[in-house]
Amino acid sequence: MKQINHIIGGEEVETTSGRTSPVHNPATGEVTAQVGLATVEEVDRAVGVAGAAAVGWKATSLAKRTAVMYAFRDLVDRHKTDIAAQLTAEHGKVLSDSLGEVQRGIENIEYACGLAEHLKGSFSQQASTDIDVYSTRQPLGVVAGITPFNFPAMVPMWMYPNAIAAGNAFILKPSEKDPSVNMLVAELFDKAGLPPGVFNIVQGDKVAVDRILEHPDIAAVSFVGSTPIARYVYSTGTNAGKRVQALGGAKNHMVVLPDADIGLAADAAVSAAYGSAGERCMAISVVVAVGSSADPLVDAIRDRIPGLVVGDGSDANSEMGPLITEEHRDRVASFIENAPGEGATVVVDGRVGTFEGVGFFIEPTLLDNVAPGMACYDEEIFGPVLGVTRVDTYDDAMKLISDSPFGNGTAIFTRDGGAARKFQIDVDAGMVGINVPVPVPVGYYSFGGWGDSLFGNSHAYGPEGIDFYTKAKVVTSRWPDPATSTIDLGFPQNV
Ligand code: NAD
Repeated sequence: MKQINHIIGGEEVETTSGRTSPVHNPATGEVTAQVGLATVEEVDRAVGVAGAAAVGWKATSLAKRTAVMYAFRDLVDRHKTDIAAQLTAEHGKVLSDSLGEVQRGIENIEYACGLAEHLKGSFSQQASTDIDVYSTRQPLGVVAGITPFNFPAMVPMWMYPNAIAAGNAFILKPSEKDPSVNMLVAELFDKAGLPPGVFNIVQGDKVAVDRILEHPDIAAVSFVGSTPIARYVYSTGTNAGKRVQALGGAKNHMVVLPDADIGLAADAAVSAAYGSAGERCMAISVVVAVGSSADPLVDAIRDRIPGLVVGDGSDANSEMGPLITEEHRDRVASFIENAPGEGATVVVDGRVGTFEGVGFFIEPTLLDNVAPGMACYDEEIFGPVLGVTRVDTYDDAMKLISDSPFGNGTAIFTRDGGAARKFQIDVDAGMVGINVPVPVPVGYYSFGGWGDSLFGNSHAYGPEGIDFYTKAKVVTSRWPDPATSTIDLGFPQNV
């Protein structure tokens, strides 16, 4: 059985914990590897190695760091099909989606390649008489990332390219459910010329996470995962004096106004709800059908579902793959099971599929008449289950969204520019799509939700990513003639 190990200081390191976690091929249900789960001492060893490497990396010129990042970008691009295949084998999403994930991750590497520009400070000559003032941004030292199963390549790429480009050493604690893609990443960093110890991987579970959160030599932690763990990571990490950004779960609403093109809206809802089997934090999980849009929209979505090809993600014909684990599949099925008792209507039941007993599949499911107070509305299902909530007015739709504890992404479908403009101004969410169902910002903006979808002030990647992994310093300087020197106990004035 394949064993997945840590990467510390450029070397594979086997755990001594004696604890492992199974990695599956979700399309078959077969266990394909065991990942070794770290001890506290192994996390400490990684932090020690990273701390030593961070000193030399911080002193490495911007030009040399840029060259490494460019080389890394090219290697990832050249190996993206290998990365995607590995990703599909452990996550289950279809190959085209895995490739898309890697491509969106590459955007973040490309942004990090501009590190010399991003780290530029400002300079004010003669700010006061004979005094110049300038600012710099310096790395924090050792920083860590803790990532979820659903984007095993891209979400770490939201973190380590900017962190490393800014001069930090990085420790990644990937999801134990699909850890292999990052082993390839570590190899590519090595080939790109990144010094050993600047990028490390610690495989693990809560033991590793807790040690990361309390370790005094880790300055900042980026987390992406479910809301309860994000909340825990944020409070524990900040209590330990760290900088923390913790992105949590979501329940994203797509509002369809009566004037919208129903075919376009239905295509968008189907794509955004069932892509990656709904295991995306930016998936659309609730369609809010306003007024007369509801009946035609439900019909149009229902009519599209039989045409979707569900199957093994490694089969090029498949459009949607399985869920990550058997437990998760069963949890998703329980929402469908309970929906009628709560008052929802099951329009298409994805449990009645062709995959009985094979892998962790649930086929696309459509629920109608879903409303607040029902578990299928209130909770993040994280599966291919789309709910339709019917409301009378635009204001009712806005109230639904502002009452939701999450505020990750949202979208509006309409032909009315004024209504769309009002929506993007008023809506309570961090990322907004106008006739775009999955509005994941490009790599030179930043990604983050509101409410229970993000704890902390800092969004991920882009300019906020650079700020998160650096600290600002302002220098005030003068070169006076010693002959003119005097004592002055007054508070320095600018003259
Ligand atoms: P998860 O919260 O179960 O796990 C995330 C990470 O936390 C993993 O590395 C895991 O090992 C660790 N972890 C799990 N339980 C822990 C515990 N008790 N103590 C300490 N660490 C623990 O999330 P997941 O199931 O891997 O990922 C799916 C979730 O991530 C969904 O809720 C999804 O919405 C969310 N997500 C959010 C975003 C975003 O940008 N807001 C992006 C992707 C995924």
